[in-house]
Amino acid sequence: MTTADTSSPTAPADASAPAPAPGITDVLRARRLLQGRLEPTPLRSYPALDRRIGARVLVKHENAQPTGAFKVRGGLVLLAGMSREERSRGVVTYSTGNHAQSIAYAARETGAPCAIVVPENPNPVKAEAIRALGADLVEAGADLDGARERAEALAAERGARLVSPGDEPDLIAGVATAYLELFEQAPDLDAVVVPVGGGSGAAAACITAAAVAPGCRVVGVQSSASPAAHDSWRAGSCTARPNRTRAEGLATGRGFALPQSVMRGRLDDFVLVGDEDIRRAQWWALSEARTVAEGAGAAALAGAYALRADLRDLRVAVVCTGSNAAPDELRGLLAA
Ligand SMILES: *Cc1c(COP(=O)(O)O)cnc(C)c1O
Repeated sequence: MTTADTSSPTAPADASAPAPAPGITDVLRARRLLQGRLEPTPLRSYPALDRRIGARVLVKHENAQPTGAFKVRGGLVLLAGMSREERSRGVVTYSTGNHAQSIAYAARETGAPCAIVVPENPNPVKAEAIRALGADLVEAGADLDGARERAEALAAERGARLVSPGDEPDLIAGVATAYLELFEQAPDLDAVVVPVGGGSGAAAACITAAAVAPGCRVVGVQSSASPAAHDSWRAGSCTARPNRTRAEGLATGRGFALPQSVMRGRLDDFVLVGDEDIRRAQWWALSEARTVAEGAGAAALAGAYALRADLRDLRVAVVCTGSNAAPDELRGLLAA
């Protein structure tokens, strides 16, 4: 496995040369590691969504994962790949929430000490879930970059492994198992629409589609209020951008080198949608698919709607990546 050497205790989050991208062999190995630890997630269709988009829409329910988001696949693979000795020194990471829950969940499963740095005023549902998983929760920084600085310091202090939310081959290989599953559940997809924050999910989709579903287009979606990954992909180099989306899973202020390097050659399209479009898609998820999607979890549906003219009559998977909406967010949906 090309990712066996990710064990350097403090892999820098900002390495200028990205680690080598995982290949399909790494993805298959990740799937073996996850066997018996996670159940496959459902792939379902909803007539109301088919009508709305004008396509055959298949919803991949990663919001049904035990942590409420797809990232747990990556966390489990990363922790399982660390040596016992390295795990005993612990892991530190920074996140707006779902990556944190993934690492905290995997740390608990494998008995590793875990500290999570979140930006100040986190989504209370996610903060409580992180604490419930037994991790130390540290609130620091106004945004993800501020949290990263504290996490780097904390990891150095403790001699713990700093886990980047974006530039980690094992996270991408783990997340890619969702796409193996998807392409087995629906072998004849024309397109898959993937919400993008750091870009691990979209990179995972690209790697897997290239190997097992080469006819399937991979389309990324980000919020126009936080367009760093989109703009980095368009520019062909990692750039920093304003970061103001309410959809936490999509909120990053810069492009991550590793997923960008994968997406550069293989992503077919990348669209931006507004936070209001995302909110409306959350309501469609709730009312028409009877499923709870946080903002990022509904972004693929919003993206498919934005692209509906291109997707007409095609078979399109939208990945519902997460369910961890804050209480106020849910109330807002119902009140609108
Ligand atoms: C993290 C996250 C995303 C974005 O995934 P990346 O791999 O960071 O691009 C999308 N949706 C949800 C629910 C997330 O938690």
